[in-house]
Amino acid sequence: MTAHDMALTPRRCPLCDSGNATPRYRVKTFAVVACDDCGFTYLPVAAGFDHYAEGDGAWENAQPSFIQERLAQTPLQTRLSLATRFRTRFRKKSPVHYIDRHTANQAQPRLNVLDIGCGAGGYLLSLHPRYVPHGVDISRELAAMAHASFSARGGFVVTAPATQALSRFEPGSMDAIVMRSYLEHEAEPLEVLKGCFGLVKKDGLVVVKVPNYAALNRVVMGSGWCGFRFPDHVNYFTPTSLAQMAAKAGFRTRQRLVDKLPTSDNMWAVLTPVA
Ligand SMILES: [Zn+2]
Repeated sequence: MTAHDMALTPRRCPLCDSGNATPRYRVKTFAVVACDDCGFTYLPVAAGFDHYAEGDGAWENAQPSFIQERLAQTPLQTRLSLATRFRTRFRKKSPVHYIDRHTANQAQPRLNVLDIGCGAGGYLLSLHPRYVPHGVDISRELAAMAHASFSARGGFVVTAPATQALSRFEPGSMDAIVMRSYLEHEAEPLEVLKGCFGLVKKDGLVVVKVPNYAALNRVVMGSGWCGFRFPDHVNYFTPTSLAQMAAKAGFRTRQRLVDKLPTSDNMWAVLTPVA
């Protein structure tokens, strides 16, 4: 299946549910729109679960072709971007850092962590053994890989859209929830955040990493910005709009300046439940 023959469902504004929006960018064959009522920037269509479950649309298959496509279009910027990604990895900015800092003074022998959009698992395994990793992913192949390693530590992985998968976990059972490079893909991000509010403990946290639509690079590159991806990236958050959506789900958002630098294409945020 290609981007041109997949089934697409129209979307309303995921922040305020308005149906009125104005095109802001045209990228190849699609438009990114801004809500006329609240200003939220989003893709007014979304592909279904089947597109991402396996085959060309699944992350493990789509990711290499996105990189190849970008190399062909803008080789210099893409090589610089890949080099930058290596640099950020070298600096080891990871959800583990935020979770460790938040839970350092908690004495429980077992802490439950849920990674929504966990892919093959990976970094959660670098958490201290007292953390029990759980996951959600819609790619069957990646979810099976994550389940094999998470179940060895007492957790499990659910393969389903997040809006359905979250009900499979015990309410109020998670010490930490991670959404790393996930929420920009989710057709119903407010529903998922509300689901997280029901799952996370009152003293727990949700760690979010998403592309930053307020990045200087987006302003400079315009429709050539690396954050625009059709049909995968359906939500384009700024620090302000992420905090607004999180507040609607019951969370307070904390972002230090280093978490939302306009020189980075991505931003981090820590959400904590409002009592
Ligand atoms: Zn809106």
